[in-house]
Amino acid sequence: EEVVGVRRKSVVRVKQMIRRRMGTENDQSLEPIIKAPTLEDKAFVSEAVLRQILLGESLLEIVYPDISIDTDNELCPRCNKLLTDDEVVAGWTNGNAQDYTTKCSVCSQRFVPHFCVQSTAPGFVGSKGPGTPLLCERLSPWVLQKELRSVMSDREGIEDLLDPDWRAKETKNAILWWNLILSCMRYRFPFAFLLQGSFETSLIAPTPVDDM
Ligand SMILES: [Zn+2]
Repeated sequence: EEVVGVRRKSVVRVKQMIRRRMGTENDQSLEPIIKAPTLEDKAFVSEAVLRQILLGESLLEIVYPDISIDTDNELCPRCNKLLTDDEVVAGWTNGNAQDYTTKCSVCSQRFVPHFCVQSTAPGFVGSKGPGTPLLCERLSPWVLQKELRSVMSDREGIEDLLDPDWRAKETKNAILWWNLILSCMRYRFPFAFLLQGSFETSLIAPTPVDDM
């Protein structure tokens, strides 16, 4: 328990340090971004990787204040079973890039799962206009890979993906980008580079070192 406590404490300290460095120290709460209780304990990562992940989370919180990503709110349309994030993931068809559905763990009904992104960022446009939550189709890794390939086959592909204006231009772009963020967070991959379009300084830099 103490180990978890120390890790938690260092998470907050590292995030506060990154905010100081980026010149955006504020009182915004340091709540977990994804409301899925076991996510953090799922995959152990080294301290260096953890710092890169926290850098990404901190930048996400700077660009999207009060960010929350809700993945634990998926009702089966047939039997009303509330599916957890893990159950949605378990219901995907492995390796099938054409299948956008998951399978209910109780009644086996197939349906397209969703997750919900919310932020108080001024330019944030949700499913029902500015300031509303954005409901996103939840893409399996295979579908995500296919969709990414299609975007990146464009000459401007990679710049588009990092450009906040591209995200704001069309809901389907935003949905793809948020799926990428969610996947990186779920599988504990560093994702700071996905926010490069919102910052002048290069984010692909050595891991921030302690200044405390
Ligand atoms: Zn069901």
